[in-house]
Amino acid sequence: MAKRLVGKVALVTGASSGIGEATAIALAEEGARVAVTARRRDRLEKLAETLAALGAEPLVLEADLLDEAEAQRVVHETEAHYGRLDVLVNNAGVMYLEPVAEADLGRWRRMLELNVLSLIASTQAALAGMTARHDGHIVNISSTAGRIANPNAAAYSATKFGVVAFSEALRREVYKHGIRVTVIEPGAVATELRDHIGHAATKDALNAWADSMRQLQSRDVAEAIAFCVTRPPHVNINELLMRPTDQER
Ligand code: NDP
Repeated sequence: MAKRLVGKVALVTGASSGIGEATAIALAEEGARVAVTARRRDRLEKLAETLAALGAEPLVLEADLLDEAEAQRVVHETEAHYGRLDVLVNNAGVMYLEPVAEADLGRWRRMLELNVLSLIASTQAALAGMTARHDGHIVNISSTAGRIANPNAAAYSATKFGVVAFSEALRREVYKHGIRVTVIEPGAVATELRDHIGHAATKDALNAWADSMRQLQSRDVAEAIAFCVTRPPHVNINELLMRPTDQER
């Protein structure tokens, strides 16, 4: 089948593992040139070998996106390197779960800053180029937690509901410039995300819940993202909610 992203340039944040890594590969398989960013350069360099073998002419951008200036820099460096940015996948995120009464507010601040503010900053940086070309696609990764709020996930859900709200308002601002906005809301995906939960009881409960089902794989989400960004220019999939078959809520 013909590759559908030939001539396009993508930037994937949080590409050193999980959904972001799989998405970078899926977009490269469709013929895109792909820039990847995260903090773990070694993981990005390894991914870049795979991307190069696919002909994606990868650009590795090590960055800590907790700093919004860095979120803007990676967009501008991608544009400077390839001369354009067509598809921005705002995927970098963390999930710190704990009851509100016991929450470490410093941890929650970092989660709010990465999951929401950094996504806003990279989006803002991409708009000028996309508006000038009257073309572009911004894909924001939310979650089922952006649709349903569960105990012990109050702040994570606040970030992911925030991503949904931001994406819809953004779409309504930029559709007239030919820019598409898609928000992806996956259920449980088998990745490293849960490893960083600092509250032991919550972590154990969530791992038991996830282990009780056939979880989505990163590739499943990557294929959904690839589907959204390979629709004809007049088609904008605004929102894509996907769960493991075995997941109820
Ligand atoms: P991973 O932990 O595998 O990936 C998270 C990515 O974010 C990594 O590449 C990590 O790279 C990057 N990241 C974390 N902190 C920073 C930072 N400060 N600066 C730059 N990059 C950072 O988890 P997933 O693949 O599961 O998560 C990807 C997205 O999917 C997240 O937004 C998550 O909320 C969302 N999601 C995940 C679900 C799941 O069940 N797994 C379900 C629904 C949504 P590095 O550490 O190298 O910086």
